[in-house]
Amino acid sequence: MPEQSIVDGIHIPGLPNECVAVDLSTGIYSGMPHYPSPYLPEIAVAPTANHNSHKRAATTITFGSHSGTHADAPWHADPDGLALDRVPLSHWIGRAMVVRLAGRNQAAPIHKKDLEQCAIPEDVERLIIATGWCESQWGCDAYWTEGPYLAGDAADFLVKLPNLLLLGIDSPNIDAAADTRMGVTAPVHRRILSRGMVVLESLCNVSRLPDAFFLFAPPLRIVGGDGCPCRPIGIYRPSGNDA
Ligand SMILES: [Zn+2]
Repeated sequence: MPEQSIVDGIHIPGLPNECVAVDLSTGIYSGMPHYPSPYLPEIAVAPTANHNSHKRAATTITFGSHSGTHADAPWHADPDGLALDRVPLSHWIGRAMVVRLAGRNQAAPIHKKDLEQCAIPEDVERLIIATGWCESQWGCDAYWTEGPYLAGDAADFLVKLPNLLLLGIDSPNIDAAADTRMGVTAPVHRRILSRGMVVLESLCNVSRLPDAFFLFAPPLRIVGGDGCPCRPIGIYRPSGNDA
């Protein structure tokens, strides 16, 4: 991970109550690794103008809609789901909580029983699952295909939370790699997104967040978009437990 993408909590003047902001994204940079999928291109940030010749810097940026830390719109897995430009902003912005899956094999699938131990409030609106996978495996090939994903019973548990709008995770895929193949419906994506929820994948730095925080994570408003890299920011007040 490039150094600039690991950002310690920064005091932002103007935020109320001495709040701290934490960058939860991997960043986007040329040649960065991505999920080994035929529908994702190589990521490039290529100069098309430079200061010597053009007296300005400009670039052409190439990335797939599911590159780096990114958002999934319902339409990604549901042919009747909302595209990015139709998802209400309130899905991406608001109070959120982190659940930390401790005392388990990081790479193991996440089951309902793992989530039941986390005392998730019935009215939670935005939920981030912290497995430790990004912090231990980013930069390794295993990060992409051997990490934790949601088992079917965990997806069933989550879709029953009546107010849940957003689910985030610090691994690259809420589905098993074996279920992520062209021509095959990814079952957990379909289950979660067809409920109208949105998803954030490949989050990082989530261990720096308190259990309750304020999330700001809107992706680009791509008309008809199925997903897009984004830069989720977690905001909290160090002296308290919330922003
Ligand atoms: Zn995705």
